[in-house]
Amino acid sequence: MVSGDTSTTAKREVVEKGVEILEEGLTQRTSGNVSVRIDDDYVAISPSGVPYREIAIDDVPVVNMNGEVVDDGREPSSETPMHLAAYRNRDDIDAIVHTHSPYATTFAALGRPIDPAHYLIAFAGKSIEAAEYATNGTPELGENAVAALGDRNAVLLRNHGVLAVGPTLDDAHNVASRVEYCARIQYQAEQLGEPELVDDAELDDLIEYFQEYD
Ligand code: 13P
Ligand code: ZN
Repeated sequence: MVSGDTSTTAKREVVEKGVEILEEGLTQRTSGNVSVRIDDDYVAISPSGVPYREIAIDDVPVVNMNGEVVDDGREPSSETPMHLAAYRNRDDIDAIVHTHSPYATTFAALGRPIDPAHYLIAFAGKSIEAAEYATNGTPELGENAVAALGDRNAVLLRNHGVLAVGPTLDDAHNVASRVEYCARIQYQAEQLGEPELVDDAELDDLIEYFQEYD
């Protein structure tokens, strides 16, 4: 069983990150969710449908890799299957931020990838692809998200939002912020003309650079 201290630290991170993404405008009301992988067997995830500012540390449920709650937290996020699918598929992912940030979700509504119109996209990959649509909260949404994510750090959920991943919750949050920024810049640039895209070799270098950046 997961040790008390480790799980309390993870729960605290979940509480604090929820408020941060809300205050940054990356999500609204109870939309979105965040999780931290505690160890091979357990994940702390935000509770379902609770406004971020009202979540206390003891409200944060810990689930096993089958999605079963193993402590007395509240009902886990409805997107627990999607979070678990990402953790199962990638050993390098230890934290996840899911948002409905407006510019990135505009692209998601079009089923349109975000292009490398700004170099900061390299925090997430060379582009942000759009996953096939599936109903929120279903295992199918998780499968589609993981398939379109590939080895990148973010993916668009069609007609829904963004899934951002990383080795820490701060990293996943950073990716979610950069994705929103890049979506906004591409959107704005396209109001004025056709943005020039960063070339492939440069993106390879940038991805390497950002791996060591912070
Ligand atoms: P939860 O409140 O269940 O985490 O759902 C929010 C959400 O964004 C569903 O996709
Ligand atoms: Zn959502």
